[in-house]
Amino acid sequence: MSCIDKRAVVTGGLGGIGTAICQRLSQAGAEVIATCHPAEIDQIDAWVQAQQDKGAKICVVAGDVSTAEGGAALIGKIVEQFGAVDILVNCAGITRDTTLKKMTAEQWDAVIDTNLSSVFYVTQPVWNGMIERGFGRVINISSVNGQRGQFGQTNYAAAKAGMHGFTMALAYEGAAKGVTVNTVSPGYIDTAMTAAMRDEVREAILAGVPMRRMGTPEEIAHAVAFLADDASSYITGANLPVNGGLFMH
Ligand code: NAD
Repeated sequence: MSCIDKRAVVTGGLGGIGTAICQRLSQAGAEVIATCHPAEIDQIDAWVQAQQDKGAKICVVAGDVSTAEGGAALIGKIVEQFGAVDILVNCAGITRDTTLKKMTAEQWDAVIDTNLSSVFYVTQPVWNGMIERGFGRVINISSVNGQRGQFGQTNYAAAKAGMHGFTMALAYEGAAKGVTVNTVSPGYIDTAMTAAMRDEVREAILAGVPMRRMGTPEEIAHAVAFLADDASSYITGANLPVNGGLFMH
């Protein structure tokens, strides 16, 4: 895969899936900038060192993507420090699972703001530049549960389904300008997000996965690198499921 001479920004870059995406895009030749939540600032040095030990030189910029001001300030800082963004991977996300009956407005808002509104806040400031330069890749990390729903995840499923609606609508706006917009929808992936599940929940989930295993962050990163590739120029508005067969349609 080739992303040579491209600059890539990965939100949620210090997370389980984000880290693998940063590594993979760096291996493909991109200059990679990971973004992290301000609460993760203490982890930056160790994370950068760990990536360097694996052969990737990746810079990190902190900023909260769940607010309009946070997203604009983050991209402003990146463009000023590094230059224009060619590849944007919207990977920051959270869950606040509970049944609708018990869900608070705060739990609803936190998930919608972080998973869905962030995509607008971060993509808009890079969009005009991509259109003007005639090249861009926007890749949104959604979820299988945005496609099929899940008990206790009305907030998360709504946000993740919304991400793909955003992808399809924006794909029209970039289509004639060399800018593609796509979604990757992971199934259950071995990261801190899923490690928090109780063993019996984990086993019940795996029983429903035709491949009988969780995916790896590297398998998601591979799909992202494929869509980011210069040669993937005729793929736009697509949703690429990477879920071990958990949901097919
Ligand atoms: P993770 O918790 O390891 O990483 C998420 C990252 O997003 C964290 O580093 C976190 O700090 C960052 N983040 C959260 N809120 C933020 C904010 N307001 N501003 C800036 N950064 C913020 O999770 P992960 O498992 O690596 O998941 C990455 C993405 O993949 C998420 O969007 C998640 O919904 C999606 N996903 C994960 C799985 C899975 O099984 N792990 C499955 C489907 C989809």
